[in-house]
Amino acid sequence: MLGNAQFTHQYLSNIDMYVAVTFELGAERTFTYSVPERFRARVGPGHRVLVPFMRGERYGFVVGDADPPEGFAAKDIIDVPDESPLVPATLMELAGWMSSYYHSPLGMVLGMMLPPGVGAGKVSKPRRDVREDTEGLTDYSKKSEITPTSAQEKAISTVIGPMAKGVFSPFVLHGATGSGKTEVYIRSITGLPEGSGAIVLVPEISLTPQLVGRFRERFGDRIAVMHSGLTESQRRAEWRRVREGEASVCIGARSAVFAPFDKVGLIVVDEEHDGSYKQEEGVRYNGRDVAVMRAKLQGCPVMLGSATPSLESYHNAMEGRYSLLELPERVTGHGQPRVRIIDIRERKEKDLIQPELVEKTRECLKAGRQAIFFINRRGFSDFLICRDCGHVPGCTNCSISLTFHQCAKKLSCHWCGTDSEPPGLCPECGGDKLKLIGGGTEKVEEELAALFPDVKLTRMDRDTITKRGAFRELLEEVASGRSGILVGTQLVAKGHDIPNIGLVGVVLADYGLHGADFRAAERVFQVVMQVAGRAGRGDHPGEVIVQTYSPEHYSLIFASKHDYKGFYDIEAEAREELSYPPFSRLALVSVKGVKDDKAKRGAEAAKTALTRAAKGTNVIILGPAPAPIRRVRGKYRYNILLKSKDVRPLHAVIDKAVKGLAESKALSGCRLDVDIDPQGMV
Ligand code: ADP
Ligand code: ZN
Repeated sequence: MLGNAQFTHQYLSNIDMYVAVTFELGAERTFTYSVPERFRARVGPGHRVLVPFMRGERYGFVVGDADPPEGFAAKDIIDVPDESPLVPATLMELAGWMSSYYHSPLGMVLGMMLPPGVGAGKVSKPRRDVREDTEGLTDYSKKSEITPTSAQEKAISTVIGPMAKGVFSPFVLHGATGSGKTEVYIRSITGLPEGSGAIVLVPEISLTPQLVGRFRERFGDRIAVMHSGLTESQRRAEWRRVREGEASVCIGARSAVFAPFDKVGLIVVDEEHDGSYKQEEGVRYNGRDVAVMRAKLQGCPVMLGSATPSLESYHNAMEGRYSLLELPERVTGHGQPRVRIIDIRERKEKDLIQPELVEKTRECLKAGRQAIFFINRRGFSDFLICRDCGHVPGCTNCSISLTFHQCAKKLSCHWCGTDSEPPGLCPECGGDKLKLIGGGTEKVEEELAALFPDVKLTRMDRDTITKRGAFRELLEEVASGRSGILVGTQLVAKGHDIPNIGLVGVVLADYGLHGADFRAAERVFQVVMQVAGRAGRGDHPGEVIVQTYSPEHYSLIFASKHDYKGFYDIEAEAREELSYPPFSRLALVSVKGVKDDKAKRGAEAAKTALTRAAKGTNVIILGPAPAPIRRVRGKYRYNILLKSKDVRPLHAVIDKAVKGLAESKALSGCRLDVDIDPQGMV
């Protein structure tokens, strides 16, 4: 996955006269200062220094040594306040790598790595205990002492080996849903060598209260939690606890990959396939990939866990770059739930919930068990679907399906706002059986309420979890058994372990299946596998019903057979044919500006520069095209897509072109951003 973009900054090996200093806050460049005699034994990369800047004083970070300045006298460092570097050496090295790999200024990378204010020397006691915000869920899955299964045992011992020796080894932990991955993480961490820390990345911490709870149960106060819901002073306090060795396990969303341990013994990336590991603004890094690089720089194992690994990670395992650890079986004796696909193309009933699913729900509830209903849309959104081929007309700009607005009788795109007339015939197959469907979580909730008036329903989507702690409360409602049916978007598929779920209904599996994004099939496969994995985790077997207009789609067929490998083989073949990742590397260069014509002209200039830089390489350059969401926060955007078999020329072309552009005036009035390994084509 990761290329070898070389880290170019020279580090102080011992003592030097001049150092390069960067300031937080996204500085584009470094400044040279001289080091007075009295600080020389102490100052090095990652050290915080107080320096004269403009007419005042300012804290900055030493990034390395600097050449003696030419033509001006460097100013002296005023103070070096800390005994040891504030930023550990491996993190400085990681920042250097990120700066070159993601084509972002080093100061900006460092600014993003540290909690706000740390660089400026702010230390504060948090006003509220972070534990209140990250309280785990009551554990309703009753188990006394867990004895690891032989598959778990094998995975744990395989990881502990390189951990004890401190050598880099990347693992893909491919574990079926309910196969006990969390237990593997926890037991591996228990074997951490003295003096080193563990980092555990989760896609979104407020959505994984169970996992946090299990870690807290095992490691108590040795845990530090980092996530975006914390106040700035809480984040600084957690950061300090890690830095000062009070905490040895740091759990958090993608930015926890920057936990300031001097020595990292193990990095875990749970649900590594999850798109939210990608940061989409500022330094556009992928937390999973940075985790692999940090492990490499540090010399430690990294475990990428998932029931549905990303094509990229699994491909790396197939090619032998990563080692594959497998937990093929569930820990409970029932195995995976039985999945039935129901073809609803010819159905006359208007209802979203078709008779078979109603019947199964009735049986499930009667047996005293609970159900989950999944639909990947909020609200009541109506949309058109072709009953012949299952196609859902999408926005030509955004490659997402269009929503039908009853009052205007128009199709409209919820992203870009474009309205269009509903087509008379299916744009895909030419058929005339276009049907209007009312989808969305609220519609499903309404139907369920009419069908099962005595059953308490819980709805979970972005509309119902806006309040702090709301997600945990809703999950608690279901886990405790107070609620009979959980209805929701992909939030219900997030790894929850509720033993009493007997049935999962995928109300409409078609959303996203026909999108133009090359990852569409993979995403649908993942979410259906994941949500199906919520059923039958306790003492009874589970069942899954998938309603769809595309019953022959391979994503659904393989998901229904719990066949990851089968899906991977087909999908990998398609990607290879079209030369998409993991068989090529992509970069998205976007140019934005307040004035449309300036942005457009800037993009044309960027294209010319890139094309020139790519001469003699096999880097393919496509575009510029107006971005799907053309105007964001008042800025027009144009995209240029770069595609290459190898990562090295890709970086070289970008570096060369961007440097040339910076020296010319071609980008006046606009701004150029680079997105390496973009998640979507949007
Ligand atoms: P996954 O993340 O792979 O879906 P979990 O880690 O949530 O699975 O584990 C599923 C359930 O099985 C949890 O309730 C967990 O406590 C339990 N469990 C894990 N390992 C074992 C084991 N060896 N024996 C019994 N129960 C186990
Ligand atoms: Zn659109």
